[in-house]
Parts: sequence; structure tokens; C-alpha cells
Amino acid sequence: MVEIKSEAALDAMREAGRVVAQVLAAAREAAAVGVRLTALDEAARSVLAEAGAGSPFLGYRPSFAPTPFPAVICVSVNDALVHGIPDDYRLRDGDLVSVDAGAELDGWTGDAAVSFIVGTPRPEDVRLIAATQRALDAGIAAATVGNRIGDIGHAVGAVVREAACGMPTDFGGHGIGRRMHEDPHVPNQGRPGRGFPLRPGLTLAIEPMLMAGGRDTYVTDLDGWTLRTPDASRAAHIEHTIAVTEQGPRILTLL
Ligand code: MG
Repeated sequence: MVEIKSEAALDAMREAGRVVAQVLAAAREAAAVGVRLTALDEAARSVLAEAGAGSPFLGYRPSFAPTPFPAVICVSVNDALVHGIPDDYRLRDGDLVSVDAGAELDGWTGDAAVSFIVGTPRPEDVRLIAATQRALDAGIAAATVGNRIGDIGHAVGAVVREAACGMPTDFGGHGIGRRMHEDPHVPNQGRPGRGFPLRPGLTLAIEPMLMAGGRDTYVTDLDGWTLRTPDASRAAHIEHTIAVTEQGPRILTLL
């Protein structure tokens, strides 16, 4: 079922989204060469506690997962694409880090992700992150009244292919609201004019996941959570929660 949100609900989701942005900023601030991934999770937990917000990630157990997720953020490094569990790994110079975060506040949820480089960037990683941002921007720009879900997927997918990157075709964005994952599914590829119609008050998480190696397959770690590129190439993942409005797409997960 798809819930169309009132303006008051969108305002409440904006507040949850602000907490998500604060969590991502804190995790990014904590990330440095030599720092353990668990320190990023600790920084994220502090922000959630300070805001009085809950975590939709902690304890989350979708059908594919063997164990409840043990942290409030996903931290995926280098060839890890999404769903990385923050552990004792110490960040190294040049690591490409993707952090995915959520927050629950007053019954509403936000979900967003960033990719960034720790220390000295490799030019190809800068290009990969830029392509991922362009894919997200294109997807958001297509989230207008009168368009359909397929228009978003088409816009995202065109940028991914133009960048000669791969993507996991069975993961994508999603409706979001009272819960983190709601209908409709928002694939990162699609046919223009097809799929669920976009209406004012529809809220979506749009999240391109790009793999530099260009293949559309992935491998799963023994932890059952972490998805990696099949060729050890690097990956990036950037996400926002947005609302479709009469005035155009409105990003909810900003500071
Ligand atoms: Mg999401």
C-alpha cells in the first residue's frame, strides 16, 4: 500500500530527514585514516540519542539477512557496495567509504547515504562518486507530478550506463514514510511512462548504487549482509529521501 502524506506529515518527515543528515555529517566527520568503522557508528548513535530519534537500521532483519543488523549505519568500504557492517577495520588512505543512515522521529522515517574518500583521493574514485551523484540528481529531477516510477529509473539508469558502470539490478530505492521500506519499489532502471504514477505527497528514497567494473552482478559476504562488486572494483552509493510536490521534488534528508 502506498500512503500519500499530508503537508504536516511532510514537515514531520523533514525533521526526521534533518536528523539523518546530521548522522551522515557526524559519521563523515569521524572518518579519518586509522579510525575504526565502529567509531563512525558510535558517532551516529550519539547524534540519534541527542535528537531523541530511533534507528530503523538497528535490529532490522529483511528476508535475505541471516541476523538482525547490529549497527545504526551501514559502512561499505571500497569494493563493498551496500549493507556493510561497521567493524574493527581501520580506514586507510584513499579508502572510498559509503555510509547509509536512517532515523525515526515522531513516527516518521528518513533514509539517506553518502559516499566520500578518506585521505588522498584516486581520480577514478572521484569520477565514480561524481557519476553516482549525477545519477541521483537525475532521478530526483524526474520525480515530478505526472511522471511515473519508470521515469525515475530511466533517468538514473541512463547516467549509470553513460558512466559505463554496473549496478545491482535487484536492489533499488523504495517508498518511505512510517516505515523505512514501503511501496512502491524504485528500480534504478526503467521505462519512461511506466509504473506507479507520481502524485503530490508521495515520498521516496532514491538510491543509485554504482560499480566501477561495469558488471551488474555482486557477491555477498559470509556475514550475509555486505554486498561486494564481483571483480573487486570500487562502488559508490548516494541516497536521499524526497517528496513529490506540486512545486517539484523536495529533498527531505538535508541539514
Ligand atoms: Mg534506502
